[in-house]
Amino acid sequence: MEGDVLLRAQQGEADALVQVIDATLPAVYRFARRLCRSEADAQDATQDTLLSLSQNLSQYQGRGAFLGWVFMLTRSACSRHRRGEKNRPHEPLAEHEGLRSDGPDPEAQAQSDELRATLQHAIDSLPAEQREVIWLRDVEGLSGEDAAQTLGLSLEALKSRLHRARAELRRAVSARLSAGLAATEHVCNDVPDLVLALSQKLEGELSKNACAEMEAHVARCAGCHARCETLRRLLNLCKRQADDQPVPAALRRRIKTALQALQPSTSTHPPTTR
Ligand SMILES: [Zn+2]
Repeated sequence: MEGDVLLRAQQGEADALVQVIDATLPAVYRFARRLCRSEADAQDATQDTLLSLSQNLSQYQGRGAFLGWVFMLTRSACSRHRRGEKNRPHEPLAEHEGLRSDGPDPEAQAQSDELRATLQHAIDSLPAEQREVIWLRDVEGLSGEDAAQTLGLSLEALKSRLHRARAELRRAVSARLSAGLAATEHVCNDVPDLVLALSQKLEGELSKNACAEMEAHVARCAGCHARCETLRRLLNLCKRQADDQPVPAALRRRIKTALQALQPSTSTHPPTTR
């Protein structure tokens, strides 16, 4: 999204608003699919989010990432759809077929698709509060500060949730991530919780000395090296998880129609002020 598009949309330019919505829709839909318990709810929540965005855009003051602000709207849209269903367990949604390119090596491609599906299932199986932090921070790539703001948490609380979620996720997919590595689950007496230490390092919580000590240890301890590598693979895979979920064409059309109904004027000029 280009720099001044958001500002022009805030000033009431219809074309700019359409661009903002087009640019935001895929991320909103992905996040709604992680929060809602059915595809139908995810699509409804996506539409609600974008209608609410178009009506409340002036409330975004530029503090923190725009996407973080939009995700706040998505969270409340999803919780409205969830109301009364609190006791129903989260059922991981089936992923869309198609759009996966057959690379030069179909076998490697199939393995990588399978790994991504395994990771998606593991993310969807996390408790809701862990699923949200992983999604915002490691899949969508929000900063810790922005993710904390979106979730209404202190930065400390966000980080501690994130560390637990990363460790949980790595455990869940560890067997699939450890190809070619030494045994990853041995207990190391020198660094009893390496995954936590690595996660803290990523969030800027470790001192320079502590980092250097850990790196030196990982270089000489095969078990810790392997564990370190599985976390690195996991986080790389998380970043690619966002590419994978196309927005259904029918949903795009539905949102466009709903927005047009909301704004009968098709003027591309900002409203004139008296
Ligand atoms: Zn070790």
